[in-house]
Amino acid sequence: MERQTIITSTQWQSIDTILLDMDGTLLDLAFDNYFWLDLIPKEYAKKHGVTENESHQFLRQLYQTHHGTLDWYCIDFWSEQMQLDIAAIKTRVAEKVEYRKGTPEFLQQAKAAGKKLYLVTNAHPDTLRIKLAQKDFSIYFDEILSSHDTGYPKEDDGFWQVIKMKWNFNPANTLFVDDSANILETAQNFGIGYLVGVNYPDSTKAANHFKAFAAVNELTELLV
Ligand SMILES: [Mg+2]
Repeated sequence: MERQTIITSTQWQSIDTILLDMDGTLLDLAFDNYFWLDLIPKEYAKKHGVTENESHQFLRQLYQTHHGTLDWYCIDFWSEQMQLDIAAIKTRVAEKVEYRKGTPEFLQQAKAAGKKLYLVTNAHPDTLRIKLAQKDFSIYFDEILSSHDTGYPKEDDGFWQVIKMKWNFNPANTLFVDDSANILETAQNFGIGYLVGVNYPDSTKAANHFKAFAAVNELTELLV
């Protein structure tokens, strides 16, 4: 059976720049969900002498308060808030970092097709380093950028203004893949021509549903 085409071959020809998110797009978000929702509540409970239940409750509230801000993605912020060495704990379990299915194949082929590839992540530079030490996808990219270095999260139009100045790409000929509908929307308002979501950012969880965007199971579905 023929699969549905997300990008036609004419569109693929006209795309010269590809912007890719890291967590939930290149890498399996199962790691981050395990880390923040399972491991960290346990570590917090141990450190502060509270039950795991209390720890879960407290952290859920803390997470909700800061969701979608740069702080949310900031290791230093969480280390300070929780009095835990987040980078050290992350390094300890880093061997659990995995690619999503199809990621290396897609990167190889997109690069071979002559596309400019940029990684745009809200992950903190320390997180980026820890993950790159496990899965070195840097060889495929023209540049790798943490939004922390721009002063804005990807949810903010300011981020897009900064990268446009920095890389001087044509938004209309650019493909952007991200597992966050909010971020895709910001990119759309900025004028990015091709926007694609990810159905299974976390391989252990049910599908994401995108109302306004096409979405892939694997990035290789974008190759034509
Ligand atoms: Mg993501």
